[in-house]
Amino acid sequence: MVERDDVVGGAVSTVERWPGVHVDRGSTLHVMVRHTGIVEELELEAVGLDYIDTDPWAVSLHDDAALLFSTDLERTWKSIDEVCGRHDADAYANFVERWTPRVQAMLASFHRAPTAVGLARSFWPLGRRVRSAGGELAREFLTSADHVLDSCFHDERLKTALAWWSAQAGPAPHEVSTAPMLATAALMHLRAPGRPRGGSGALTQALVRRLEQLGGVVRAGDGAVRVTDRTVVTSSGEQISARAVVSATHVLTTLDLLGLHDEAQRARLRVGTGLGMVLRVLTDR
Ligand SMILES: Cc1cc2nc3c(=O)[nH]c(=O)nc-3n(C[C@H](O)[C@H](O)[C@H](O)COP(=O)(O)OP(=O)(O)OC[C@H]3O[C@@H](n4cnc5c(N)ncnc54)[C@H](O)[C@@H]3O)c2cc1C
Repeated sequence: MVERDDVVGGAVSTVERWPGVHVDRGSTLHVMVRHTGIVEELELEAVGLDYIDTDPWAVSLHDDAALLFSTDLERTWKSIDEVCGRHDADAYANFVERWTPRVQAMLASFHRAPTAVGLARSFWPLGRRVRSAGGELAREFLTSADHVLDSCFHDERLKTALAWWSAQAGPAPHEVSTAPMLATAALMHLRAPGRPRGGSGALTQALVRRLEQLGGVVRAGDGAVRVTDRTVVTSSGEQISARAVVSATHVLTTLDLLGLHDEAQRARLRVGTGLGMVLRVLTDR
């Protein structure tokens, strides 16, 4: 594995920002990976990964109230009931009930090859469940997160908190097809999101340890400058041959590395600028 940076893990890494203080560079709260089975399959706990459940996973503060999002659905319902009233509390429970099987189908599709057959296999049980030809389901998947929020809830504070969650995925919540991103909030009621002891980068460190145990080699500070499906040339000029090359860089970086500079091809890829900012501060109390 070749990494351009001196630190391995990209936005899933933790560095010493101030003497003795380790700070996550990007991600902090691990949600999706805990639903993939990867941690268990690679037995990452045996090589040092120790997740701490984060519950409650979010608190939304307002002048006179705090909305608390907990793994326990009833606890979350109670908080919404107290702050926003019974209508929105019931609507939230309903939203979670409706979207949980759909999010589970999405997760199932991640375990299969991204083919039409794989998708159909993952979503077929869902179509049967709602006794729909899939039309209604498709409509709801293609709608925007904002539309779902406006159609389900009244209170802007609840809508804002959930829109914040939806926006974590990248696209803005008013864009089409963002409803499923919003719906991943339902995952929080299946399993608490986790924070690795030692920081987000502890996940990467465990992956590195497991890879090395399996005979892999990880090299930092010498990135790829050119790749084909079987070779990698690094910035130090070394050429590495392999049975297959997997690129985990940004798609446009990967095209550059492959030497594909066709503007029309690049224009077909719809990549966002990303949004969001994290503030890390060191306090003395
Ligand atoms: C501020 C911030 C907060 C976030 N918070 C969360 C969170 O709380 N929870 C969550 O689930 N997600 C969060 N994310 C998102 C998450 O961190 C990313 O989805 C994840 O890091 C993407 O992983 P990746 O491996 O695809 O890309 P990256 O993490 O970007 O890794 C790409 C790697 O490729 C390397 N690279 C680039 N070019 C080359 C080259 N030519 N040769 C070799 N190596 C190269 C880079 O140096 C980098 O290490 C956050 C992201 C940011 C930026």
